Amino acid sequence: MTNIAFIGLGTMGIPMSHNLIKAGHQVTGFDIQQASLDKHLENGGKVAGSAAEAVEGAEVIFTMLPIGKHVKEVMATCIDKISTDSLVIEMSTIHPLETDEVRASLAERDIAMVDAPVGKTSEHAYTGTLLIMAGGEKDNLDRAMPYLEVLGNPIIDCGGAGRGSRMKVINNYLSNMINVATAEALTLSEVIGLDRDLAIEVMSGTAAGKGHMTTTYPNKVLKNDLSPAFMLDFAHKDQGLAVDLAKAVGVNTPMGNLTQSVYETAQEKGLGKKDWTSVYAMLREEAGLGA
Ligand code: NAD
Repeated sequence: MTNIAFIGLGTMGIPMSHNLIKAGHQVTGFDIQQASLDKHLENGGKVAGSAAEAVEGAEVIFTMLPIGKHVKEVMATCIDKISTDSLVIEMSTIHPLETDEVRASLAERDIAMVDAPVGKTSEHAYTGTLLIMAGGEKDNLDRAMPYLEVLGNPIIDCGGAGRGSRMKVINNYLSNMINVATAEALTLSEVIGLDRDLAIEVMSGTAAGKGHMTTTYPNKVLKNDLSPAFMLDFAHKDQGLAVDLAKAVGVNTPMGNLTQSVYETAQEKGLGKKDWTSVYAMLREEAGLGA
């Protein structure tokens, strides 16, 4: 049994702390909302009157708070009470540079930290099957693992301190854009008279629905092969067909228009006759990652 402090008993924190209790740990929770504290008590946890009280004597300290400002504020109120033998496991989704700030302030006091934000939803928090993206030095990850295993599966070692936080942000970045692009495509498909279920079925079998990382990229740009399997000029032409059609029928396609302008930039850089995945090579070069 480990003495655990859990700060932030909201939608995610309640089921996560409950799983830790069910695994046999003593979990002292703190939240600014009384209803959260009541629920934690009902789940068999102990409650504290402040974050500082919760962390006192805790061997492992979890934070599951809304944004970075909350994590920094909470840490400021309790850092003096955290033992240098303790491990902080920060699981909120926050700005990676704030993750670094929190780690640095803990390191000043020789307190170890793992950043371990989660993917999926509160339903997975209840079943202990969250996707956990963990960042930390190997020793600290090893220490965190028995607790993370109670909360999630799979647990991915993202390759070093701060990289869990970075992985989470990148994952949501792409997922968010696909969300908007999907909404645009489905709206347009309906307005132009396609059956939505049929459109979903067709697109689920192509790179449109499957994504590019596992379909077009592996045999082309990831192998540094930019010879055209599908020429960027054609991708540009086809994108033009869709955005023109959208304009004609009055559908708003901001992602579609932006995509077209990225292809145009690629054409200006001489990539028109290359594979359409060469946009990735172009952006890498712009970012200083080399050709
Ligand atoms: P939530 O708002 O339901 O819970 C956050 C809890 O933190 C609340 O109970 C709030 O009262 C408490 N809190 C705020 N400031 C506090 C303070 N100073 N001291 C103590 N407690 C404080 O949020 P959530 O859905 O549990 O999400 C937590 C984090 O997990 C967020 O960063 C979110 O982006 C991330 N996340 C959420 C989901 C989801 O499906 N809800 C999925 C993946 C990741």
